[in-house]
Parts: sequence; structure tokens; C-alpha cells
Amino acid sequence: MAEKLLKFVSIEKVMPAKRAAQQRLDDFNEVYAEFDPAAATEQASRCSQCGVPFCHIHCPLGNNIPDWLRLTAEGRLEDAYEMATSTNNMPEICGRICPQDRLCEGNCVIEKDFDAVTIGSVEKYIVDTAWEEGWIKPIKPLVELEQSVGIIGAGPAGLAAAEELRKAGYQVHIYDRHDRAGGLLVYGIPGFKLEKDVVGRRTGRLEQSGITFHLDFEVGREAALTDLRDKHDALLIATGVYRGRGLKVPGVGLGNIREALDYLITANKKGFGDTVPEFENGNLDAKGKNVVVIGGGDTAMDCVRTAVRQGAKSVKCVYRRDRANMPGSVREVQNAEEEGVEFVWLTGPEAFVGTENIDAVRAYKMRLGAPDATGRQAPEPVPGSSYDMDCDLAILALGFEPEDLPALFGAPELRVTRWGTVTVDHETMMTNLTGVFAAGDIVRGASLVVWAIRDGRDAATTIKKFLKDQKAVAA
Ligand SMILES: Cc1cc2nc3c(=O)[nH]c(=O)nc-3n(C[C@H](O)[C@H](O)[C@H](O)COP(=O)(O)OP(=O)(O)OC[C@H]3O[C@@H](n4cnc5c(N)ncnc54)[C@H](O)[C@@H]3O)c2cc1C
Ligand code: SF4
Repeated sequence: MAEKLLKFVSIEKVMPAKRAAQQRLDDFNEVYAEFDPAAATEQASRCSQCGVPFCHIHCPLGNNIPDWLRLTAEGRLEDAYEMATSTNNMPEICGRICPQDRLCEGNCVIEKDFDAVTIGSVEKYIVDTAWEEGWIKPIKPLVELEQSVGIIGAGPAGLAAAEELRKAGYQVHIYDRHDRAGGLLVYGIPGFKLEKDVVGRRTGRLEQSGITFHLDFEVGREAALTDLRDKHDALLIATGVYRGRGLKVPGVGLGNIREALDYLITANKKGFGDTVPEFENGNLDAKGKNVVVIGGGDTAMDCVRTAVRQGAKSVKCVYRRDRANMPGSVREVQNAEEEGVEFVWLTGPEAFVGTENIDAVRAYKMRLGAPDATGRQAPEPVPGSSYDMDCDLAILALGFEPEDLPALFGAPELRVTRWGTVTVDHETMMTNLTGVFAAGDIVRGASLVVWAIRDGRDAATTIKKFLKDQKAVAA
């Protein structure tokens, strides 16, 4: 039924139903259910349709949020879908995993006195419905163009660029070193945040649209960068960042101290039903273990929540600042606590203790001192506060850095920043190599899916211009 808008005064914010924590621990399925049509319409009708929509401004994709909320409230769901998809290649994925409290919803004008509109959940509802109704079809370009683009990396940046280029008729080839497309959407983010068939139907559609996927194809091993430059008229590097930041403390070389992504990739592969030797031999299975995850971001949250689902004996998250200063999303911390994760705030690792394998993490208490150059209070150890916590598996979730791409790609001429991210001209997104562009985490450093999509779309726009110019010169 069509609803009037501005109902935020009379209708309370309601989130889709959330499964009980005990039930969630039995599987890796998503935590939140779907809105039913009445709830979606009602929640969309809370939008105040303000003149300057801060939600739109703070969405990295500039989504026309008030418009698709209005269309949903009016029952015009197919129009709402067209509007949502005009600015975003995978709105239902963003609706699930964007940190909305820091982006659109955190800037909703009614948030000041009433709770924000549930923008992410409505976005997910609109586009999941579009899939169910068959409104989402493979791309049929109006013309087929001869020029081809090679994209290295099948994560959200590469996939978004591929879709935009294919719509324009270019021949698109995606190369990825993994055996499945999706990047961190399939092998980083666990199923309880994003079920894998949601990603699979997106990549499947791109395949049906004529995009060629070359999986198990590592650039640097199967081909050097220059081979791909010779093969394609333009290239996009969208390889993400994968080198885990290490810790320099005594005992760090002991067995069973692992990188977060090794752990999460293994868990995600198991979710697909794959045989993974490191899991089968118990090394990367948390079952029955005392697990300590070090770090306070979303990756740490994904690790602790995976460990409780694998049947760990105990799971602790050790973070050097306090709850208020945690980088991980508030919602994810709350979900983890409900699922039985223990947070050990204001605590840092001093050493790892053990003979061959780790037996304990020696930790000291921290306190927040004077603000540093960024304005954040710097944590400092409290003297004499060391103690040991039992640990059979320690997982380091301290952030990611780029791999050495010039060396990996056999392309020392590719210019990178001092942090190892690829240098681009921010107007064109082209690297120092003509016709080679870059987008996503490999340019920004570890960021968000929604920013990777934005970068992929922007890169597609400038690649199209580059290819047209090349064609004009050749004619
Ligand atoms: C555990 C975890 C949880 C996260 N949770 C969230 C979240 O909840 N919400 C959110 O918005 N963001 C989240 N992020 C961040 C988000 O996943 C990334 O910002 C985003 O995926 C970056 O997209 P990308 O396309 O640049 O790179 P990626 O998604 O990393 O994709 C890069 C692809 O390139 C491939 N590749 C790399 N090198 C080569 C090579 N040499 N040859 C061929 N292929 C190569 C990789 O296999 C990969 O498939 C999370 C990240 C992690 C690690
Ligand atoms: S893409 Fe992300 S930030 Fe933008 S409206 Fe959707 S959930 Fe909000």
C-alpha cells in the first residue's frame, strides 16, 4: 500500500528481524532477515525528503536515497530499483555491509531527534526483490566494440568497472588469482554478513553478459604486466591490499600465530564445501581452542565471530584502546558480544609465550594518554600490569598493506607511493604507464566496498574516454 512520507514523527525505526545469537552460532548465514513489503514501505515512509539530503552527500556513490525511499513508500518498487541501480552496481551488497552508521544513516537529518531511516535495509530489500522478480537481466550492449580491456582483480572495484565497460560494448577480460570471482566479497567478508550466493548471482550475471573471467590466473606468475598490455587496449589494476601488518614482539615466530586473511579465506573456502588442508589438519580450525584475536577493526570482528561459529573454547578480542575508540562498527561489536566474544579493552600484546606453538599471550594493560598528531589519544602501557591469557590460536588483525606490485608484476617501471599503493593521476586514474589505470584499495589503501565500487565506476568513465581518443587517433 502506498504510504505518505515524513512519517518519522509517528512511526518508529524498526530494523529487519535479527536471528537469536544462539541460533546464529549454528551456521554462517546472515544475521538479519529481509523486510516484508509492508515493513519496507512503512520504514521508507519515515524519510523527511529534506531539501539538502545529507544521506546522499555522505554516500560515496551519491545514491539518490530520498528518491528511492519515496518510490518505495509509494509502492513503485521497480522504479525504485531503476533509481538505486543507476548509481550503484551492487546496491543489495552495500545495503548489507556498508557501515551505514558512518555514512548515509549517520548523516540522516532526522537522526538528531528521531532514529535514522533504515536506508541500508530498504536498499537491500528493493534490490533483492528485483532479483526475485526477474528485473535484473544480463547486459546486452547496443553495439559491440572491438577494443578490449583487461582488468586485474575481480573484487568490487574490478567488477564495477567491468560492468560499466561492458554496458558500453567493450570486450572485457577479468584476471584473478583466486578460483572464484568477488575478491574480499567472497574470501574476506564472512557469510554471516554477506551470504555467498548474493555475490555469485552478481558475478554470474556479468559472465552471462559476455565478460570473460580468467580465474586461477595470477598476474606476475601466469603473465607479466607487459604481456597483458600487449593483449588489451587498456588495463585496470584492481588488486586490493593483502599483506597483513605484523607485530614486533618476542615469540611472534611461534606456531599457531596466524594472519587474519589466511584464517578468513580458509573459513570461507570451507563454507563453499572445499577441502582445505590447513583446516583439515586443525591449524586453521578454531574448534576447541582458546582463540585470541589482536586488533579492533572490522576484520578482527569477522575473525572473532568466525571462531565462535567454529566452536572455539573461548574467544577474546584484544584491543589497545577502549570501546569508544574502536574502529570496528558499533553494530558488529554488539553482534560479537551477543555471540559470546569477550572484549579485552585497553590491552596490548607484550609477547607470545610457548615452546613450539603458542600457549599464552602476555598482555599489559594500557591507558589513553595525550592526543597524538591525529587528535586521537595515544595508548600507553601501564607499568607492572602484565598477565598471561591462555591461547592456542592467535590471529593478527592489524590492517593490510599493498604487496610489492612492481616486483610481483615484473614491472619495475610502475610507479607506487612510499606506502606501496599505486600512484595515479586522480583526474584520469591512469598510472604512469599509458593505458594502465588503477582503482580500489590498491590506490586508496584498505577501505570500503562502496568506495571500491565508486572507484571502479570512475575508472570505467576515464577508460572509455581514453579508448575513444585512441580510436580517433588511429582513424
Ligand atoms: C575481513 C574483511 C572484512 C571487511 N568487511 C567490510 C565490510 O563489512 N564493509 C565494507 O564496506 N568493507 C569491508 N572490507 C573492505 C572491503 O572488502 C575492501 O575495501 C574491498 O573489497 C576492496 O575492493 P577491491 O576491489 O579494491 O579489492 P579486493 O576486494 O581485495 O579484490 C582484489 C582482487 O584482486 C585479486 N588479485 C590480487 N593480486 C592479483 C594478481 N597478482 N593477479 C590476479 N589477481 C589478483 C585478488 O585475488 C582479489 O580477488 C573488509 C575487508 C576485510 C579484509
Ligand atoms: S551505498 Fe552504502 S552509504 Fe550509500 S546509501 Fe547504500 S548503504 Fe548507504
